[in-house]
Amino acid sequence: MSSAFTISFAKQCIVVTGGNRGIGYAFTRAIARAGGNVAVIYRSSKDAEEVASKVGREFGVNSKAYKCDVSETELVNKTFLQINDEMGPITGLIANAGVSAPKPAIDLSYEDFRKVYDVNVFGVFNTARAAAKLWIEKSHKTGSIVITSSMSSQIINQSALNQPLTQVFYNSSKAAVSNLTKGLAAEWASHGIRVNAISPGYVKTDQTEYMEQSVRDFQASALPLRRFAEPHEMTGQALLLLSEHASYMTGGEYFVDGGQLICQ
Ligand code: NDP
Repeated sequence: MSSAFTISFAKQCIVVTGGNRGIGYAFTRAIARAGGNVAVIYRSSKDAEEVASKVGREFGVNSKAYKCDVSETELVNKTFLQINDEMGPITGLIANAGVSAPKPAIDLSYEDFRKVYDVNVFGVFNTARAAAKLWIEKSHKTGSIVITSSMSSQIINQSALNQPLTQVFYNSSKAAVSNLTKGLAAEWASHGIRVNAISPGYVKTDQTEYMEQSVRDFQASALPLRRFAEPHEMTGQALLLLSEHASYMTGGEYFVDGGQLICQ
């Protein structure tokens, strides 16, 4: 390892699920800026291919979009093999794709449960295992997985106390995925694979758009930093965990929440 603290992903291939917009798009750009090739997994956005290739052109790396629903196990395995052949070998994964079901608990259905857990828990598991399989089969003794959890893995945010719109399936799915992070880290450590989670607070993306402005203002005023984060503010911690600088870090959950947790 060089002595200067620079993060470089030159000659690496990193998969980012949900890498075409929101926080994932910020990850895609940051990896590309650090010289890495990026495989962007998306579900249905029409402009994902153009988004990925534009990032590639901007930073002079290979960046390509792959349409793949992360909740479909066989498709995920097939897509990871395809990425590995076309862009790989894959060296890292940010399992970031996530969805919510912002409804009062009394109105939630089994379909809502499946919608949230299929992506936020099973989708993370599917993609993490697909990457780990590739590394374990080739005895790579390396590989880094970063999972996007949420500060709601630990707390029920104030909007849940003051507003009828709550997120009980979302919050509990994030608690599940934070625990999944620890289990996978323990199980795969002997293969040299590290697994960590980054847990954002409120970030300005489509996922926080459903809140009324007055609720957003109220939430922001309760945060020590008094504002929601920009997506790019999530990238420092995620890229550190992905990189060789974090070679002794595994099984951790790291909060990037503007100080929200310390005030609960
Ligand atoms: P967005 O809603 O902006 O983007 C979601 C992304 O996930 C899109 O790229 C979408 O693809 C992709 N996606 C959704 N479902 C699937 C699926 N089944 N298969 C493949 N891709 C899928 O979300 P954010 O950027 O806000 O959130 C990113 C992550 O950060 C999520 O895990 C979220 O829970 C977490 N998070 C977000 C916070 C916030 O305040 N925004 C706070 C804490 C955590 P497509 O465009 O094709 O639909």
